[in-house]
Amino acid sequence: MRFRRFLLFVFLALQWSSLETFAQQAHFRTIAFYSDKTEGDHVQFAQDAVKFLGELAAREHFTLETTTRWEDLNDEHLSNCQLVIWLNQSPTKAEQRSAFERYIEHGGAWLGFHAAAYNDKDTNWPWFVDFLGGAVFYINSWPPLPARITIDDRTHPVAAGLSGEFESPANEWYVWKPSPRSNKDVRVLATFDPANYPIGFKDVLTSGDLPVVWTNTKYKMLYMNMGHGDKIFDSPVQNRLIENAVNWLGTGTKQPTEPEANGIRVSPHGVVVNPQSGKFYAVNTRNDAVMVLDANGHFLKSMEVGRAPESIAVNPDTNRIYVANSGSGTVTVIDGATDKALATVPVGDLPYTISANRQTNKVYISRTFGNDTVIIDGRNNTSTSVQAGAGDAVGMESLDEKAYAINYESAQVTVFDGAKNQISKIEAENHPWAVAVNPEKKKVYAASEGNRTVTIIDATTRATRTVEAGEIPCAIAVDSSTGRVFVANYGNNDVTVLDGESDAVLTTVKVNPNPQAIAVDSSNHKVYVASTHVDATTVLDGTNNSVLGTVKTGKAPFAIAVNPKSHIAVTLGLDGDLTVIDGTTLTVSSVPESKP
Ligand code: ZN
Repeated sequence: MRFRRFLLFVFLALQWSSLETFAQQAHFRTIAFYSDKTEGDHVQFAQDAVKFLGELAAREHFTLETTTRWEDLNDEHLSNCQLVIWLNQSPTKAEQRSAFERYIEHGGAWLGFHAAAYNDKDTNWPWFVDFLGGAVFYINSWPPLPARITIDDRTHPVAAGLSGEFESPANEWYVWKPSPRSNKDVRVLATFDPANYPIGFKDVLTSGDLPVVWTNTKYKMLYMNMGHGDKIFDSPVQNRLIENAVNWLGTGTKQPTEPEANGIRVSPHGVVVNPQSGKFYAVNTRNDAVMVLDANGHFLKSMEVGRAPESIAVNPDTNRIYVANSGSGTVTVIDGATDKALATVPVGDLPYTISANRQTNKVYISRTFGNDTVIIDGRNNTSTSVQAGAGDAVGMESLDEKAYAINYESAQVTVFDGAKNQISKIEAENHPWAVAVNPEKKKVYAASEGNRTVTIIDATTRATRTVEAGEIPCAIAVDSSTGRVFVANYGNNDVTVLDGESDAVLTTVKVNPNPQAIAVDSSNHKVYVASTHVDATTVLDGTNNSVLGTVKTGKAPFAIAVNPKSHIAVTLGLDGDLTVIDGTTLTVSSVPESKP
């Protein structure tokens, strides 16, 4: 082993010296810093970038050093370096920061990706904020999704060879407040196309100016928002942009200046139906309210809950409705007989996912950025917190005495056994986003954005199998009477249909663009697929997987529920407006009281 490695070293050394003698000289020297101890998807990007930059350095004959040793950010190490790159982080130590300031003030160049420019009230580095053109991180989209990017300035060397627009692979998009565009010294080179709005399933950006690539002309610097996950280098156009940036900054070519963004966090469980009473309950996040409709979709009442309610769950047996109020850190318990609040239970900051288990009468809540899972005892509305490694779950469903939670950052499903008070894990696939259960066949389905798959868990034996879905599977619905499973594929504009018995893929059905929410009426087998971007819902016949039609459903529908007794479906839009779909006639009506 050692011997072979030595030979390789000699070979590389010979190559290098011959290059220096006979071929082009290395015309600049660059050092790329990154961390391998930060958020997993940021580490993944850094590793991909190290490979990409290494190949680029070999092609373009510049010298590249890559390191996780941030202590090398010092005067000595930077003295013969023309370009410093930060792949996924910025320095936290005072001496490293001041060394970087000296380097830049003396004409050094910087290229930063994604989290390298992240700064908030705890960053305490005013020089850096000024260097970025005043940009302070404000909000982001979540989960990472692809987006159209417009090149603003095609005359700039960094945009050389690029056309006006390109499709940027899945990324977490950052909004800045103040926006760097408001700084007269900043030149924005690429901008997020407003046609992408709304973007996100949970943290949704709905409007506003979003500069993606910019330079502060007072310095030799360029920032690019790309840098989250393993798809960043999948676009040849974007790769060209990165190559241009490295060459432009590395060769030291000298440089030749809003509206507010609007973000909202949403849950696919923004609307539910109580199968016993038939009533619909929908959150109105902006109005701090829950809207109640009867089984036929007629407006009954609007009731005040906590601030910014996001998701909602129902226990039909006890006729209790549970509302997660992200702004107040509470859960409102509603009595479904009177539709009045019974209790307000504190659960900690930013409650998001909520699931009510009928067998155990327990309610499970996870919190955005939280580590713990909160469990409310439905008998007395007291809460306990458990460290289960399922904090920040994006989805949770109950089946028998268990709850199944999925977390984007973990390729595991966390199982809470409410009868035995046990917590366990089942392996799934990378980046789960959607979860659904089949109570008849005792199966749990977890769709993974990371690799176009659905993991099917046998709830009895805990055995798993994996089937292919489409690009970015983000929502699942199960027809409990036929067992069929419908998976909405955001990236492919279609729905994958699985057989509930054999788990085989039966077919794929085209629907309206970027489907984000799905529900199925198990009594007439109609499937409702909401497309947030185009304000429409595709209705499928689940018996033969044909498209019955498209109905217009309010502005940006992102959540949907259906009552199988009345064949009424209700969609919830980003602004809170509700649309009622009559599944028999495929006609729609709006709920005027739900308008913001
Ligand atoms: Zn990120």
